[in-house]
Amino acid sequence: MVTEAEKQRLLEREAATIPRGDVYIVEERCKGCGLCIAFCPKKVLVESDRINEKGYHPPELVEKPPVDVCINCGFCERICPDFAIFVKEKKVNNSEQ
Ligand code: SF4
Ligand code: SF4
Repeated sequence: MVTEAEKQRLLEREAATIPRGDVYIVEERCKGCGLCIAFCPKKVLVESDRINEKGYHPPELVEKPPVDVCINCGFCERICPDFAIFVKEKKVNNSEQ
């Protein structure tokens, strides 16, 4: 039987190989369409409580390391009709995962 500690170690090892992304959201450009939230394969984007000048709720990033994190796939950036979200590779060393 796999103990919780072993499971955590396996998750951390897996996380060490996952690419990571830093997500940038230009909240004032967002029109709250929700496409980025719907299509994020890791489900790490959610609608925020904030309201921008246009009256929409922009997304925000909610990560749960080591596995539920932005993987820098770029879907959100490509799908956003208003260029309101973009992602850059996150530089991390394995101990920070
Ligand atoms: S880059 Fe990919 S994983 Fe990261 S927030 Fe955007 S869609 Fe989600
Ligand atoms: S896809 Fe763009 S406009 Fe739509 S909710 Fe996401 S950031 Fe806002």
